[in-house]
Amino acid sequence: MKVLISENELRQGLTRMAGEIRAHYADKPLTLVGVFAGSIVLLADLIRLLDLPLRVELLPSRHGGKGTNKPSPVVVDLDVLVSDIRGRHVLLVDDIFDTGDTMWELIPQLDELGPETVRVAVLLRKQGRCRVPRQPDFVGFDIPDAFVVGYGLDYNDRYRHLPYIAALEPEELREAAS
Ligand code: 5GP
Ligand code: MG
Repeated sequence: MKVLISENELRQGLTRMAGEIRAHYADKPLTLVGVFAGSIVLLADLIRLLDLPLRVELLPSRHGGKGTNKPSPVVVDLDVLVSDIRGRHVLLVDDIFDTGDTMWELIPQLDELGPETVRVAVLLRKQGRCRVPRQPDFVGFDIPDAFVVGYGLDYNDRYRHLPYIAALEPEELREAAS
């Protein structure tokens, strides 16, 4: 396992991104919508860095196959939203922007509920992988195209606890798969 972003670097990047989000929304009320389990750690840190009137929602994890990291299509029952997002600014919060498919499928579904705006904040963005015509609005770090874990991101349910972001080596991916 190779550390890509240390705990200290994570804190600095998050603080910068939170500053951008705060400045963007000024004092407007905001609804954060965490995307699946991988976003929980990021969400918890963002909440503590955003001095804004804030509502928080969490979309439940999809049922992927065992060891599946990208089940698709991304259809979520938005009835799970506890609060009304009509007329509100919504910020989708996700751990990592890879192909962009997740965001691309979620945004129109949220749009149907009539929010004022829908924007996207991600901790990580993988280089050279995007296949949708939209980029996240707020990005913590750009990373190379590797499979990463830590800070809420798992591989087969492991590594979520790591306080840093690490890339798994090919043999670690194979081992866990066998
Ligand atoms: P996208 O839809 O942008 O291709 O993928 C987004 C989702 O795929 C992320 O929210 C995450 O759950 C999963 N994913 C993509 N790349 C990685 C990775 O390197 N590590 C982990 N743990 N999950 C990933
Ligand atoms: Mg995710």
